Amino acid sequence: MSDEFSLGPDFARELDARDPLARFRERFDVRPDRVYLQANGLGLASREAEAAVQRAVSEWKERGHRGWEDGERPWLATAERVGALQAPLIGAAPDEVVATGTTTQNLHVLMATFYHPQGRRTKVLADELNFPSDVFALQSQVRLRGLDPAQHLVLVKSRDGRFLEEDDIVAAMTDEVAVLMLPSAIYRSAQMLDVAWLTRAAHERGIVAGFDLAHSIGVTPHALDAWDVDFAFWCGYKWLNGGPGAVGGLYVNRRHFGRAAGMTGWFGVAPEHQFDPELVYHQAPNARAWSLSTPHVFSAAALEGALGVIREAGIEAIRAKSLVQTRYLLYLADQLLLGPASAWSLGTPREDHRRGGHVALEHPDAARMRPHALERGLHFGFKKPDTFRVAPSPLYSTYADLWQAIATLRDLT
Ligand SMILES: *Cc1c(COP(=O)(O)O)cnc(C)c1O
Repeated sequence: MSDEFSLGPDFARELDARDPLARFRERFDVRPDRVYLQANGLGLASREAEAAVQRAVSEWKERGHRGWEDGERPWLATAERVGALQAPLIGAAPDEVVATGTTTQNLHVLMATFYHPQGRRTKVLADELNFPSDVFALQSQVRLRGLDPAQHLVLVKSRDGRFLEEDDIVAAMTDEVAVLMLPSAIYRSAQMLDVAWLTRAAHERGIVAGFDLAHSIGVTPHALDAWDVDFAFWCGYKWLNGGPGAVGGLYVNRRHFGRAAGMTGWFGVAPEHQFDPELVYHQAPNARAWSLSTPHVFSAAALEGALGVIREAGIEAIRAKSLVQTRYLLYLADQLLLGPASAWSLGTPREDHRRGGHVALEHPDAARMRPHALERGLHFGFKKPDTFRVAPSPLYSTYADLWQAIATLRDLT
């Protein structure tokens, strides 16, 4: 039993009445007939994101090509400007972050830079629970070096199909490993890894450490500089609310500024040389070096608007509410779904510090329940074969939403 929560819709409304972030809900396109719990899949549209896109369209109409250099937000500097806005979310300096590419592309760009098999050190260490796209990308990076992923891509196994043990990861850090590449939070179970500890263990063994922040940026704080992480990357459309297919982001620790980027294009050139006619590559002296191409101005605009809302709420306050919301979900699941005779099981860590922004609930009939949940206006993430991911946004999900969600799942069971 918990002394923090009680059952029933009245208690949920009480929690909403006491919620210090409640005022942010009206900024988002919440709908009365929809309980939206897919904040980790595609965050909802905010007024700020929409206004920023409209502003970018107006600038296009008014300025034409002059928009690249004119105005308060010249398009040429989009990657750096929108990157710098994300730096506080990950504990980085503004010039260590750029808004560019997508999650998978950024993984490629960074691996092309940091993965240099040499002598005995030829392997990439990753895990079997990561989102398949990351593993596919790592396989191709290994193949590009003329190596066989079956030998040179080591995937740490999960003992239970849900979680990773940090000790198992460290045990796999042999002197054959060149690069460690892991998720900060696992997309299915929301388990958060101890990034600081894993990075230290990697460095002690001469291994470069990179992380995919797709499931933690925007909902939990990070301290990448303090943790001494080498590189990281993420997408803009999950907890960051940047809109479908929004531009992604990447971080390179300033210790690596000046290291030759493994993939290059004209946006990685220092701005003062970008339009030089000579075929001489002057690499930018900061994270800009890892951007390749002309920025996606409209998607970056939506993300810029969305980041303003996150900044206003504050990432610490967002994390604090997220933890209460996921604890409340665990409480409701314990009371209404889980139990020795139940077919439901919990797929998420119970300890606050190991839990990201969502709660995974597993049931063998989840696929059958899903359309019924949708009919009742409940939008969960579903992962084959049996997992609902209940992902409330601290910016727009109410406790009443969470009560309704778990009470409905009980009714559908
Ligand atoms: C969402 C997500 C992706 C998505 O990749 P895109 O390149 O943005 O399509 C990749 N990896 C992880 C871990 C994700 O969570």
